[in-house]
Amino acid sequence: MAKVAPLASLRAGRRPDFFEVAGAAARMLRSGAQELSLSVRGGEVVDGAEDYWALYYLGCRLAAVSEGARERVDVPLEALGFFDEVVGHEARIYQDVLELVARDRPTPMVRLRGDWGRARVWAKLEWYNPLSLSIKDRTAWYMASMSAEALGGAGALYEASSSNTGVALAALARLLGLRARIYVPSTAEDFGPAMVRVLGGEAVVGGSSTTEILPRVLEDAARDGAVVLNQFSNPLNPAAHVRFTAKEIEYQARFAGLKLKGVFVSMGTGGHAAGIAFYFKNRMPGVRVVGVQPAGGGIPGIKRQDFSGWWGPMPRPDEVVEVSADEALDAAIDVARSNGLLFGVSGGAVVAAIRRLSGGLEEGDYVAVIPDHGIKYLDLYLSRLGERA
Ligand code: PLP
Repeated sequence: MAKVAPLASLRAGRRPDFFEVAGAAARMLRSGAQELSLSVRGGEVVDGAEDYWALYYLGCRLAAVSEGARERVDVPLEALGFFDEVVGHEARIYQDVLELVARDRPTPMVRLRGDWGRARVWAKLEWYNPLSLSIKDRTAWYMASMSAEALGGAGALYEASSSNTGVALAALARLLGLRARIYVPSTAEDFGPAMVRVLGGEAVVGGSSTTEILPRVLEDAARDGAVVLNQFSNPLNPAAHVRFTAKEIEYQARFAGLKLKGVFVSMGTGGHAAGIAFYFKNRMPGVRVVGVQPAGGGIPGIKRQDFSGWWGPMPRPDEVVEVSADEALDAAIDVARSNGLLFGVSGGAVVAAIRRLSGGLEEGDYVAVIPDHGIKYLDLYLSRLGERA
């Protein structure tokens, strides 16, 4: 007879990378259930370890288990606590900032006024994340919290970042008693290195892009015995968005009774695009995931994707839309003037993409993931307004 046990009470050997169990996780998202119980003996998973780790990465608290056998069970993920960790404390009171980062979910989703054709547009406001005031808290926190052992032994954390990941990691380093050194390309906005320094980290500014800097970061870290969590290739980057960002969107859409048709995302590392595409392609395949990248010139935080280096088993977005920097700035300014919310420029790019496609979008609800707030980019907005005047 199968029963349900807390995942934390079971042992299943070494934790694999998310990509190693992505197939099992995809299967569970597609069926919406744990189909076979885990075979356990005395709390040890003797058969079904891959499913155990898939449940773990999907953020389930419980698993169906049987003593010494695997049985057909078909327990819905919802009954295993699938949504529990995306719903925070009602009173939002936390004993420590690490608890705030881990538990204060979901970030808000707000319907935007505007003419979007037959689409209803909901902005998911990622600047509500507390450390970098951006979506990158999710990646930074998940990579760091899952690598506690390696970090404890190292004492220092090095990372290449165009800004927000570096800020989040510099903040986390203080909380974890580590030294942080963040390598920021000279093309990035000033707020990144400034915030890193105020937070007590070291900011090394130079180089034209994170891609160009990365080899030097890895070399320096190897020499100095520092850990590089490496947001550009760490499977925990997309995994954070499967487990939290995408799941929050589904939860909020269900709660509001939305007819979810699409999710629009910008792409830097591609981490949140890959995680969100993985989640929706498997769990709600009717939801279109649209990736947004710069047409040419720079848009802070995002870059043109070389899809040959995409995220292992994670699917690509269904469609990629290119947006110019001016279109992104103009869309953000328009939203600020019609809704009173100033999005960061990558959020403006996402809105510009929706605006571009809106004539052809079928009736329904669309989510725009807004990575951060416009206060970091005031100079860019002011100079754009100057050009328009
Ligand atoms: N927008 C901003 C402002 C960012 O800082 C980033 C990443 O650093 C992104 C968008 C892209 O996010 P991702 O790295 O998940 O593709």
